[in-house]
Amino acid sequence: MTTSMPHILQHQVHAFICPCCGYEEETVGEGPQAFGAEVFETVTCPRCKESWRNEYRLFATRHKASDEVAIVQTQPLAALMALDAMSWLDEDPCNTPELAAAKKQAREALAGAQKPN
Ligand SMILES: [Zn+2]
Repeated sequence: MTTSMPHILQHQVHAFICPCCGYEEETVGEGPQAFGAEVFETVTCPRCKESWRNEYRLFATRHKASDEVAIVQTQPLAALMALDAMSWLDEDPCNTPELAAAKKQAREALAGAQKPN
């Protein structure tokens, strides 16, 4: 939790919520501007007048007809896929609770990225 954006967790689930004051209305922004595989969007809250920049990065490309997904190789998800392929994300009764939780989070991130649209 940050001090300048106390509502950041809600904002990152619902991008229309102000990360600063929690105002739940459409914010006004400029952009989005695309630079290569990255997209930036500067947004201002109409209530508290704070501004922030949402930064997006291409992580996957999906073929529309076949639903085939290609994860961008430089993205963290590609590293998780490599670990998963080596069974490093499998549940193991010897894992500490922290490691078991991290593996679960990694499996869920992979499943979320690859789920059919
Ligand atoms: Zn606000």
